[in-house]
Amino acid sequence: MAGKTVTNGAARCGLNGAALDRPQQDKTGMGRVDLIGAGPGDPELLTLRALRLLQQADVVVHDRLVSAEVMACVPAHVRRIPVGKAAGFHPVPQEQINALLVELARSGLTVARLKGGDPTIFGRGGEEFEAVTHAGIPCDYIPGITAAQGAAASARFPLTHRGLATGLRHVTGHRARDAALDLDWASLADPQTTLAVYMGAANVAEIARELIRHGMPSDLPALAVSQASTPQEKRLLATLQDIAAALARKPLPTPVLFIIGHVAAMADDCDLPHESYRPEWRLVAHG
Ligand code: SAH
Repeated sequence: MAGKTVTNGAARCGLNGAALDRPQQDKTGMGRVDLIGAGPGDPELLTLRALRLLQQADVVVHDRLVSAEVMACVPAHVRRIPVGKAAGFHPVPQEQINALLVELARSGLTVARLKGGDPTIFGRGGEEFEAVTHAGIPCDYIPGITAAQGAAASARFPLTHRGLATGLRHVTGHRARDAALDLDWASLADPQTTLAVYMGAANVAEIARELIRHGMPSDLPALAVSQASTPQEKRLLATLQDIAAALARKPLPTPVLFIIGHVAAMADDCDLPHESYRPEWRLVAHG
């Protein structure tokens, strides 16, 4: 199939055979782009395919969310282009990133476009995929562990759990400047569905208020996880009603993800402010 790479057994398991297994360049000298999920930070959460493609790339175009530990998996000779922040701390505009990917691949290079977490979840990966494929360039998605999965694994709790959560929703808590948060609160306010809120730190007070206004219990557990899966990871657990005030008192470094729902009470080793303490959460956590 166009754009697909073929792996051999050695490359699949240990990467020793990676040199035998370079992605095929097409006859016109066109390169390719792979949209690769870097996971939440811990390099052990990279897929084998992601690691292989990083090792075979000519150039890695990476976001600021990609950890230094993951970048250390990129061989020293491979060119790196950061696009998360340019001089003056302005992110490179999306159109420029799209154009860069197309230009690099047109010059015959194998481009690893490395994005935090999973490239199809709130990473604008879809826009990059469209830009690249519309230019006639082969492109694939390489899945990554998304932040919610990384956060759940390191705090040792499940995202769904019999009797506590029958579903999981990933939502963005980000809004364009001056715009209202455009979320369907009525459908989100379901205590049986775990809510993973990405990019929500700036708007957590409004998110909590709207969820409660639409019927979410005000003492539902709400967990903030900062820098999940890295050695710097921190967790703060509070009631939905208290989470914004607790974070205002003890701000956490970015990136921060929220997990809202009963399962959050099962998270290990959280900072839990006194006023948010609920004895019944211990019962949830310990069965
Ligand atoms: N594609 C990414 C999400 C990009 S949006 C993924 O699948 O994870 C950026 C948001 O993701 C951040 O604002 C934060 O909410 C979340 N995030 C990404 N990595 C994180 C990490 N290591 N710890 C906590 N939150 C993280």
